[in-house]
Amino acid sequence: KQRILSGVQPTGNLHLGNYLGAIRNWVEGQHQYDNFFCVVDLHAITVPHNPATLAQDTYTIAALYLACGIDLSNSTIFVQSHISAHSELAWLLNCITPLNWLTDMIQFKEKAVKQGENVGVGLLDYPVLMAADILLYDADKVPVGEDQKQHLELTRDLVDSFNHKFAKPNQPVLKKPDPLIRAEGARVMSLTDGTKKMSKSDPSELSRINLLDPPDVIQNKIKRCKTDPVRGLVFDDPDRPECHNLLTLYMLLSGQTKAAVAAECQDMGWGQFKPLLTETAITHLQPIQAKYQEIMADPGYLDSVLRDGQEKAGAIANATLLRVKDALGYSRLP
Ligand code: ATP
Ligand code: MG
Repeated sequence: KQRILSGVQPTGNLHLGNYLGAIRNWVEGQHQYDNFFCVVDLHAITVPHNPATLAQDTYTIAALYLACGIDLSNSTIFVQSHISAHSELAWLLNCITPLNWLTDMIQFKEKAVKQGENVGVGLLDYPVLMAADILLYDADKVPVGEDQKQHLELTRDLVDSFNHKFAKPNQPVLKKPDPLIRAEGARVMSLTDGTKKMSKSDPSELSRINLLDPPDVIQNKIKRCKTDPVRGLVFDDPDRPECHNLLTLYMLLSGQTKAAVAAECQDMGWGQFKPLLTETAITHLQPIQAKYQEIMADPGYLDSVLRDGQEKAGAIANATLLRVKDALGYSRLP
């Protein structure tokens, strides 16, 4: 079976963008692959973070993976910081990464602007750590949202560069991964600005629907989301990004085809559409929330899932790290 590796940062809650862009696809494809799903907590400190909530947020994300339907019979769930090989490979890869590859990254530019002079080296280095995450597991495919496409390209470039410099001909040390980006849901937009992606790090709570939002919160966020004064709701009108985004959310959460939603909504006004979307979102998230509560009620269970994960993922990661260190010429004690 081909291997999948993907992850989410424990910076606050999961939102519909993470779910529709990434996790939903992990769940749908999981039985065809050997899956590794990581909570990438080392990435979470690339922007200012709260030490008082990091551990709890990490557990929340791991529990949500399970609540969304990840099945442990084909999947390993683990925490990035529990396996030190991630940090170590990131260092080794740092030393072969040209600086300008990193300063060119869109996410770095966008997030660095928000932090002004306080931007840390970790934020610049984020894509190298992400490359380490993927390459440690010899992943074939990496299911992510559209925003991670550029980082995947960098990972692929690093593989070529490393193998070219340090591998014997026809014996690659690192495996080149392919991105797995589904057309629909790959870029869920903010509820308050249809031209910006929905993000955990957006300061406005109103900009996103979190998977754990209770019904009244979902209702309020949809009631207050940005729309336009036009009657009749359509997909794909570049002048109506909010309209396209909300119809897409409705389509994906209700499981209908685009044509069915287009037909249903073509004569609707917002007053009619918003309650429909609200109901659909609440109904879709209800079983996920119930499962989440069940998992969290038994904290020992998550501990055991993550301990198994550390063991299984750690063995693979450490083997890859040794292979890389051998290729680089490091000494080994007999
Ligand atoms: P942050 O703002 O802290 O970067 P994030 O919302 O971008 O948080 P990540 O943990 O960085 O979340 O990303 C986890 C996964 O969710 C990645 O695969 C990413 O591509 C995907 N993703 C994030 N935002 C969206 C979105 N708006 N639409 C679709 N996929 C998304
Ligand atoms: Mg992100």
